[in-house]
Amino acid sequence: MVLIKVNSSKVTYGEDIIRSEYSYESSQVQEGPDGSFTVTPYNVEMKVKTGAKVPKTGLMFVGWGGNNGTTFTGMCLANKNKLSWESKRGHHTADFLGSVSQIGTFPLGLNAAGEEVFVPVRHLLPLLDPTSMEIDGWDISSMNLADGMKRAGVFEWSLQEQLRPMMASLVPRKAVFFQDFVAANQADRVDNVIPGTKWEQLEQLRRDIRDFKAKKSLEKVIIMWVGNTERFAELAKGLNDTWANLEMAIKAGAHEISPSTLYAVAGILENCAFINGSPQNALVPGVLELAAEKKVFIAGDDLKTGQTKLKSVLMDFLVGAGLKPESVVSYNHLGNNDGKNLSAPQTFRSKEISKRGVIDDMVLSNKELFQSGLGGPKPDHLVVIKYVPYVGDSKRAMDEYTSAIAMGGLNTLVIHNTCEDSLLAAPIMLDLVVFMELFQRMQISVRDSAGISHHVEMEMGQLLGYWLKAPLSTMTNSLFRQRAGLENLMRAALSLPPSNNLFLVKGALQKEVMKNQTSVVTNKSEIISTNNALNKKIAGHVFATNNGVPAKKELYAA
Ligand code: NAD
Repeated sequence: MVLIKVNSSKVTYGEDIIRSEYSYESSQVQEGPDGSFTVTPYNVEMKVKTGAKVPKTGLMFVGWGGNNGTTFTGMCLANKNKLSWESKRGHHTADFLGSVSQIGTFPLGLNAAGEEVFVPVRHLLPLLDPTSMEIDGWDISSMNLADGMKRAGVFEWSLQEQLRPMMASLVPRKAVFFQDFVAANQADRVDNVIPGTKWEQLEQLRRDIRDFKAKKSLEKVIIMWVGNTERFAELAKGLNDTWANLEMAIKAGAHEISPSTLYAVAGILENCAFINGSPQNALVPGVLELAAEKKVFIAGDDLKTGQTKLKSVLMDFLVGAGLKPESVVSYNHLGNNDGKNLSAPQTFRSKEISKRGVIDDMVLSNKELFQSGLGGPKPDHLVVIKYVPYVGDSKRAMDEYTSAIAMGGLNTLVIHNTCEDSLLAAPIMLDLVVFMELFQRMQISVRDSAGISHHVEMEMGQLLGYWLKAPLSTMTNSLFRQRAGLENLMRAALSLPPSNNLFLVKGALQKEVMKNQTSVVTNKSEIISTNNALNKKIAGHVFATNNGVPAKKELYAA
């Protein structure tokens, strides 16, 4: 439900579309041969259109019967049915803790008293309601979701008892499975596989998507892989480097075409966004080409839940503070089926790669600390994962960060993080779906000097990177910068300037703004932006004006 209305001539709330005019400000940097920099600020006038109606949406999980799939489904059902339960810690009611879309807030501006106003993210723009979403999926195990939930051992028993009748009738569809891509120890759960050639299996996945859509009268389906981590597939010219080659390779039943790639292709061919929640390279170049051709959004890889999320905060803090991380050592042990599968070297390797890349852009961001960038000495970075069945889904992550500090000193941080893996993952999976669905309804365009409108591509890696360990294309892994990007895009859709955190217009000046404001706050749920003309006047007092540097339209041309 949208509770926030921006009162500005630059925003119009139509029945079907919210339109916003937005002035995007940035800087272009040129590096001279002597190491000097010339910076040119510019601004581009953009239009953002956001669909005002959320279509009836379904979600299909690959690996529905696993810990993440069952936990997600149980969480949504518990919230939909407003369940509550007792544990030895007391009374609990269903919630979505850990979800930015459901619980997060964004700062909106200052009120008349000069205090900052925070509002729920879900009140800014129309978002998918997780309790109205339809869920379906595939699994190599035919176990129903109630038994899967019991096997996962994530929820308190008294909650499981209430969820059981709702989940017992949910049975995963037959899946595509090639044993060679996961650990041998997964073989004993395989009893639900689509027969036939790779091409026939692909066709069946497409029929499944159409069947789900028709049965539930859905306007949109989003697909998410939360199946086991697979080993990396080989990337080879003529095999999966282009869509044409990938299509031929699937038809020929080529060995290196992984199940996750087949699900991605099936989804894209059915115009469904695909999110890869695991680390393997499901999204091979041929898939990227197909997605670009069909204009279908894809995102990956690997959910960013516990240890890596903290790493993307701590490395940002250390490097940002001018301290020099010299070694980062991460141990994990876990006892769920994910841990069991990761005990094979080839699947562990996929996870290790996605966990290790997260520090690279922090290293690149500070050449004072790391002169030769990624090519030179950078922090020692080790990731170890061990399978310890007894701890189940309650993953233990232990990290040691050793940094060089002033004048030859050392600072060592040691962190112990009990992750409760699937309970951290389910709200993140939800956010990925909710924001993916929102971005599918958004269109950004820029008009050039000849008056021709250009479509601006939205980078899912950048926009959804907050929830992904190894986003496909991203400028930064820094968690708070990723969150700021998300916030600012939502603000742009409402013609609100990015949060600048300067708080310059406060006190007497703030009172002046409020006095001259042309609009009035009519009720508590309606927050009014300050008058635009006045904004410009105030900005003129405080900032140097941009001396008419021409817009760099070519940067934004599609
Ligand atoms: P899980 O082993 O409990 O569930 C995976 C499910 O996928 C199983 O039910 C399995 O039968 C099924 N499966 C395997 N191959 C399949 C295929 N080809 N088609 C359909 N189903 C298939 O694991 P989980 O704990 O739910 O984690 C799922 C994935 O999410 C793993 O790859 C894990 O690395 C990744 N992940 C999890 C977390 C987290 O839980 N915090 C964080 C980051 C990434």
